[in-house]
Amino acid sequence: MKKLMAANWKMYKTVAEGAATAAELVGLLDGRLPADREVLVCPSFTMLSAVAPILSKTPGCSAGAQNFYPAGQGAFTGEIAPEQLLDLGCAYALAGHSERRHVLGEGDELVGRKVTFGLGAGLRMILCVGETIEERRAGQVETVLARQLEKGLEGVLGTATAGNLAVAYEPVWAIGTGEVAGPAEILAAHAFVREKLVALLPTEGASVRILYGGSVKPDNAGIIIRLDNVDGVLVGGASLKADSFSQIVLA
Ligand code: PEP
Repeated sequence: MKKLMAANWKMYKTVAEGAATAAELVGLLDGRLPADREVLVCPSFTMLSAVAPILSKTPGCSAGAQNFYPAGQGAFTGEIAPEQLLDLGCAYALAGHSERRHVLGEGDELVGRKVTFGLGAGLRMILCVGETIEERRAGQVETVLARQLEKGLEGVLGTATAGNLAVAYEPVWAIGTGEVAGPAEILAAHAFVREKLVALLPTEGASVRILYGGSVKPDNAGIIIRLDNVDGVLVGGASLKADSFSQIVLA
């Protein structure tokens, strides 16, 4: 499987800014993207229709959504359905990003419903998991990861494959803080996630990609991406500028 180099633009950029950044990014990557790397950009919903066509013109690049509501259609004011994302050219979607869990109050059960529904609708899903600093200090990293993986993947046995599911390990204390997890912390967490994936998805778990996220920058990406069980990265702040994200993609 290709390494998945994913950008999360969070709630930044106007449509014009997003389109300009996407165009600059594909320009920087044109003819340089290694055959073993895949690029994904997850912008706000507002600019998906502008950004997705720019990315899809470059082989190995695509657009994804940061969130959606797990229903086909209906009276869900303010929400977006997977079908509507596919209609805009979205290939992927995130579920369970720490900002949705901890700022917007999403629980494991809703995250699990999103993963199941998204896969069923034809989106490739990235399930985000990770512990808070309090949980790490209390020695609960594995307990938290186990719970988030068990609940997040509860309904996907038989549907999830190495091609349509990825897991992003994103320690909450490393997101947007500049405090990247160290190699030993990443290795230990990813090994545990791999073990759980194999237990939960016996035929596919060994090859489902595991991404690391949390203060990935051009100067640390090269080390992180070469660690065991690191099959990609999920990048927030450093993905907002095409130059810095392209350096991470090519690290
Ligand atoms: C993220 O938003 O998923 C993230 C990892 O952010 P940052 O790279 O800014 O820590």
